[in-house]
Amino acid sequence: MPHKFDVIVVGAGVAGLAAAYKLAKEGLSVVVIERGDYPGAKNVMGGVLYRAMMEEIIPEFWKEAPLQRPVVEQRFWLMDEQSVVTTGYKGQEWAKEPYNCFTVFRGQFDQWFARKCTEAGAVIINETTVESCIVEDDRVVGVRTNRPEGDLYANVVVLADGVNSLLAKQLGYHQEWKPQQVALAVMEQLKLPAQVIEDRFNLDPGMGATIEIFGGATLGMLGTAFIYTNKEHISIGVGVLLSQLRQMKVRPYELLEHLKNHPAVRPLIRNSEPVEYYAHLIPEGGYNAIPKLVGNGVVVVGDAAQLVNGIHREGSNLAMTSGKLAAEAIIRANQIGEFDVRALSHYEEQLRNSFVIKDLKKYKDASSLFERNPRYFNDYIPATNMALHEMLTVDGISKRDKQKLIMKRILSENSLFKLGKDLYQAWRAMR
Ligand SMILES: Cc1cc2nc3c(=O)[nH]c(=O)nc-3n(C[C@H](O)[C@H](O)[C@H](O)COP(=O)(O)OP(=O)(O)OC[C@H]3O[C@@H](n4cnc5c(N)ncnc54)[C@H](O)[C@@H]3O)c2cc1C
Repeated sequence: MPHKFDVIVVGAGVAGLAAAYKLAKEGLSVVVIERGDYPGAKNVMGGVLYRAMMEEIIPEFWKEAPLQRPVVEQRFWLMDEQSVVTTGYKGQEWAKEPYNCFTVFRGQFDQWFARKCTEAGAVIINETTVESCIVEDDRVVGVRTNRPEGDLYANVVVLADGVNSLLAKQLGYHQEWKPQQVALAVMEQLKLPAQVIEDRFNLDPGMGATIEIFGGATLGMLGTAFIYTNKEHISIGVGVLLSQLRQMKVRPYELLEHLKNHPAVRPLIRNSEPVEYYAHLIPEGGYNAIPKLVGNGVVVVGDAAQLVNGIHREGSNLAMTSGKLAAEAIIRANQIGEFDVRALSHYEEQLRNSFVIKDLKKYKDASSLFERNPRYFNDYIPATNMALHEMLTVDGISKRDKQKLIMKRILSENSLFKLGKDLYQAWRAMR
């Protein structure tokens, strides 16, 4: 194997594999270095994978990739101790080709994706950790791995090493992430027969549903919980900002147990068998935490670049799109034979023009607003549940009196001014 490649990709997650596939298809020599036993071994996702972005890399991938269920219904729950307010969307158009999104097991999906990369000509080296970038004259020229004689050289190194992003940090592209810039998520796979899942979630055979849960599932901390249907498993998880988890001194598995025991959740998972437990960080810093993305001979993609839209539970699609755009910039740079920051900056330009940065910019203030103001999660979600409980309980009290009672209870804790201000600020942060 030659020790000099056109491109070295660090990390065989969806960002790194997207870049490697595009580059190898274009005929560039590419090596992907992955520290796990195989691609997908160390990757954790809820996991909803979005068709549109994956299809820009491998058209009609859904005809052959190992997928769990096409998602035909997305539900949203506002949860308090005893109740949930539910809303959502179910569409038959999502049940037909080419579909909208799918649940996947990353252990299976990433292995398949890596095989496609190999077929396209990329070399994948597993069980190998990149310890640092090799820098000469202010230019990244390769990587040092933990293998004996493990230095590899390339014109460009793609840093797709996930949320911890140690290599970009070593290069000085960002500081250590602050505890309010990452969420800790824990999740379980619960085994259940396919038909039981379909009955409980009101699904046609083979179809899937997702539930995103806000409020009580996180014990008042900023975060969300989720329940996703796979073929014969339910994925259930909860993620909260690391800063708040530390402050509240709650153990992550306690959060998950609390969720599993909620009266609205219990019947969905009854008699299921826990088969896997995962814990993983999610970048939540958003637009304001995006590090330097391009240097001489190096680009940063996916979670390593904090490209996660936590409001919409999108991460894998941002990762793939960033990997694809990085590959396109490298292909251009290869054509002119220049790999400095100027030649590679096309990646950042294209990323800024794409939905990735546009969406992150749209929500740039949302996370910090919800973190600063606990009333959104601790007061207003329970108030919504209380209001619906009151209006829908038939007990002989007139509806007008019920409305008065609801307003009185809400205003006993917060003034009308405060309520109006909070609503306005939430609207501004989400508009
Ligand atoms: C619980 C949970 C639920 C989620 N749910 C969803 C969801 O439903 N939908 C969605 O779109 N997103 C979801 N996400 C986010 C999504 O998983 C990520 O955004 C996505 O996986 C990022 O891909 P990536 O390739 O950038 O990073 P990763 O998939 O983390 O890949 C990074 C790879 O780099 C390797 N690596 C790291 N350091 C080194 C090194 N030094 N040397 C060699 N290899 C290295 C790792 O082993 C890993 O394979 C979820 C995340 C979590 C934790």
